[in-house]
Amino acid sequence: MYDLLIIGAGPAGLSAAVYGARANLQVALLEKGLPGGQMQNTTEVENYTGFKMIMGPELSQVMYEHALHLGVDYHTADVEKVELEGRIKKVHTTKGVFEAKALLIATGAEPKQLGAKGETEFRGRGVSYCATCDGAFFNEKRPGMDKGLIVVGGGDSAVEEGAFLTRFNKVTLIHRRDKLRAQPILQKRAFENPRMSFIWDSTVEEIIGDQAVTGVRVKNLKTGEVRELPANGVFIYVGMQPNTDFLAGSKILNEAGYIVTDETMKTSIPGVFAAGDVRDKGLRQIITAASDGAIAAMSAYHYIESQEDAKADPIG
Ligand code: FAD
Ligand code: NAP
Repeated sequence: MYDLLIIGAGPAGLSAAVYGARANLQVALLEKGLPGGQMQNTTEVENYTGFKMIMGPELSQVMYEHALHLGVDYHTADVEKVELEGRIKKVHTTKGVFEAKALLIATGAEPKQLGAKGETEFRGRGVSYCATCDGAFFNEKRPGMDKGLIVVGGGDSAVEEGAFLTRFNKVTLIHRRDKLRAQPILQKRAFENPRMSFIWDSTVEEIIGDQAVTGVRVKNLKTGEVRELPANGVFIYVGMQPNTDFLAGSKILNEAGYIVTDETMKTSIPGVFAAGDVRDKGLRQIITAASDGAIAAMSAYHYIESQEDAKADPIG
């Protein structure tokens, strides 16, 4: 039995673990993948205060070590079901059932699929959602890798990761509108990058290939014109979706599947908290996830204290 169980070891979960452990709580993290969450799939992080630039996997590692150093238990386990009501929270995982007095859900988000024909078929054979993981495979110096790369999307991820990919190959970014959504500083860098070009008002209708991707079929949404472009790889960055399948039907979710909390990270169920990208909120960043995690851990601490007080003094 733990005081605080945290599902997800991204920056929200890891920061919560640090704050929980420093409040003397018995804390465990349940993580199905690598510690760090989306930071593992990020190249250069330039907006986490205190670091002019740090690579995502390195920031993941130092946060993880910080939590372990404070005595936090870490379990590699995939959470399949949770029992949220009642004083004891039960979490069913691939490694058995865990119990705690309070539960923090920090399961973040994962990339959305584009829905183009060929996307599933060529996943891992030219279609990727992670430039950090796969970019180096598409080095133009390798035989046959001379067709270039396609990036789909117009947000921070598409523009930043697209710019990173120009280290390996030339990049064409395809966006469905004629304006990027990305932060101005990222846009400026991308427009100034001679290895990056743009196709506006267009969508990728189909990813084509044989053993691996050889190109894409692109439709101009204004003219209706469809044309084929050669490519060795297609990197898809069309937004994220919350990891809340294991909460299907729960009253703490909104229509889009994000968890609704107040500003102290409390959900509508006592003893259940949420932090980071999985929350219904405005700015989804590493620093805001870390901040949510700290607030959530302290809210959990106060909740556990209040439960102990009530037990010690059932009349008062
Ligand atoms: P996540 O980082 O998503 O972590 C959630 C964790 O929960 C994951 O490790 C996942 O495996 C785990 N999990 C999910 N479901 C389960 C389950 N059922 N059981 C067990 N574990 C589970 N932000 C910045 O500030 N600066 C940047 O430069 C930046 N670059 C980015 C680049 C890319 C390509 C992307 C995709 C995002 C970037 N972001 C950046 C956004 C930032 O990474 C996220 O806002 C942040 O990681 C959210 O943290 P989190 O802890 O809420 O969730
Ligand atoms: P995002 O901001 O939701 O952007 C998704 C992009 O994909 C948008 O440009 C959108 O077009 C486009 N799109 C959505 N569905 C599409 C479809 N079906 N077909 C074609 N295009 C489609 O997602 P993101 O860029 O992954 O960013 C996610 C979060 O992480 C954001 O909060 C972001 O700020 C954060 N992040 C931060 C950094 C950083 O700080 N350096 C880096 C990466 C990510 P429209 O513009 O037309 O809607």
